[in-house]
Amino acid sequence: MWGDKTWRRRRILKRARVSEDLWRQALSGLALLRRLSSEEHARLRELALLFVHEKTFEGAHGLVLTDRMRLGIALQASLPILNLGLDWYDGWVAVIVYPAGFVPVREYTDAAGVVHRSRHPLSGESWLRGPVILSWTDVANAGAIDGYNLVIHEFAHKLDMRNGAANGMPPLHRGMSVRAWTEAFSRAYADFQARLRRGEATAIDPYGAEAPEEFFAVLSELFFETPLAIKQTYPEVYRQLGLFYRQDPGGRAAHPGL
Ligand SMILES: [Zn+2]
Repeated sequence: MWGDKTWRRRRILKRARVSEDLWRQALSGLALLRRLSSEEHARLRELALLFVHEKTFEGAHGLVLTDRMRLGIALQASLPILNLGLDWYDGWVAVIVYPAGFVPVREYTDAAGVVHRSRHPLSGESWLRGPVILSWTDVANAGAIDGYNLVIHEFAHKLDMRNGAANGMPPLHRGMSVRAWTEAFSRAYADFQARLRRGEATAIDPYGAEAPEEFFAVLSELFFETPLAIKQTYPEVYRQLGLFYRQDPGGRAAHPGL
C-alpha cells in the first residue's frame, strides 16, 4: 500500500503543468543532463517537479527567482538522488539564492555543540538541518562540463549530513562497507594532499584538500561531471561513489551520443 507521501507525490505529478518550453529553458545549458537516457531523463523531471513543490525557494538581496531558475536548480539537485529518491533530502526545506557570492557566517555550532570556522567558499553553503545557500552567478556558470558544479557540491553535503555533521561519509546502503569506503577515501585523500604538496597539476579542485567532507563534495561534482577523471586516478573511490549514488556516470560519459 502506498504511504500518504507517495499518494501526495503522485497527485502533485499528475497536476503539475510545466510547458515543454519551460523545460527546454531550464535544461538549456545543463550539458551534463544530456548524457542521461530518456528513461532517466523522465525520472529526473519528476524528481525536479517534486523538489520544487516540497522545498521553498527564497531570493536574497533582491534577487527575483523565476520558474526557470527554480527548475534549473531542482534539476541539478535531483541528479545525485536520481536512484536514491527525494526522501534523501528530507529534514530541511529552504533553498536560499543570492545574486552573487555572499559573505558567509564565519562560525557555526555542530550537533555536538562544537563551534567550527566555516571553510566554505563564498559561492555556497549547506547547513545541518538548515538551508542550502547558493550564489546564482555560480549556479548559472555550472552549465559547462568542467568538473565544477556548485549545486551538486552543496547537495552532496546535504547527503553527507544525513548521519550528523558533514564528515565525508554519508549513510551507506546495506551491503556497502564502512571500512571499504573509509580506506578508499583516506588513501585517495592522503595521495591528493601529497600531490598538491609536490605542486602537481591535478584534475581535482585543490579545495577538496581542505577537509574530508570537502573532498567528498568535490569528488561528487567530478563523479557526475567528469567521472573518468576519478575512475582513472582513484578507481576505488569511483567504485564507492558508484555504490552510494547507484549510478555509473563513467559509462554514460563514454557514450555521450544521447
Ligand atoms: Zn563545501
